[in-house]
Amino acid sequence: MASSFSSIGSTSKRLEGKVAIVTGGASGIGEAAARLFIKHGAKVVIADIQDDLGQSIVEEIGENEVISYVHCDVKVEKDVENAVDMAVSKYGKLDIMFSNAGISEELDSTIMKVDYEIFKNIFDVNVFGALMCAKHAARVMIPSKKGSIMFTSSVASVTCGGAVHTYLASKHAVAGLAKNLGVELGQHGIRVNCVSPFCVPTPMLKNGLGIHEKEKIEDFVCEIANLKGTISDVEDVAQATLYLASS
Ligand code: NAD
Repeated sequence: MASSFSSIGSTSKRLEGKVAIVTGGASGIGEAAARLFIKHGAKVVIADIQDDLGQSIVEEIGENEVISYVHCDVKVEKDVENAVDMAVSKYGKLDIMFSNAGISEELDSTIMKVDYEIFKNIFDVNVFGALMCAKHAARVMIPSKKGSIMFTSSVASVTCGGAVHTYLASKHAVAGLAKNLGVELGQHGIRVNCVSPFCVPTPMLKNGLGIHEKEKIEDFVCEIANLKGTISDVEDVAQATLYLASS
């Protein structure tokens, strides 16, 4: 992915004047996307539950006119509604919704470990959260007849993903949602897509594997499959979202 996307828009600002919300933007893929969107001229609202991390990114970038943080638990509709309303009241509109917040079960969750609590928790965040982000983004995008909604699915939406059955099912659901919403919202000029990364060394993957160095994660992946050279960096995924977010 890096070679396909890294050169896109390297010399021009591709999101000048656009307003974006990035859920799960306080860490990992979402943080990289938020930073890249700002670099390309967008105003960004980071929506997350890790308030300290989110606020520290805003303080580091230090320009309140281009970046804000809002506490938003995506499984709570009111929080998502509030994040969208905040973006519109602060920056005047919403062009891009990157619904990226997600959680996984433990990486050795064999079918024997799955129960309703695990299922509900993962589906509430990964699927209901994505639905709410799309719903409230569409609420303000439909009248302006344009917009880009993106989800973070996973390579687990197209192939097997190890013993994380609930996570895998939720990411299939997210990919299906993108296809179906693309048809409904396409009639209103709104594009809907998802990115489906493979292993990306973020806190989610590192903590899940208990391995913290990219090289060691690659070694681990090579042990279970011949996948050398396939580990992406957060910036690679962010470049894909930049392409999908741009007009
Ligand atoms: P991460 O842990 O670095 O980031 C996830 C972010 O989502 C965190 O900031 C977290 O606070 C936030 N979040 C969790 N629950 C939330 C909630 N209820 N409301 C709002 N925010 C919430 O992990 P990441 O790898 O950057 O994950 C981003 C997305 O990428 C997820 O949807 C994940 O499933 C997907 N993904 C990751 C990988 C990978 O290998 N890292 C591969 C494929 C897909």
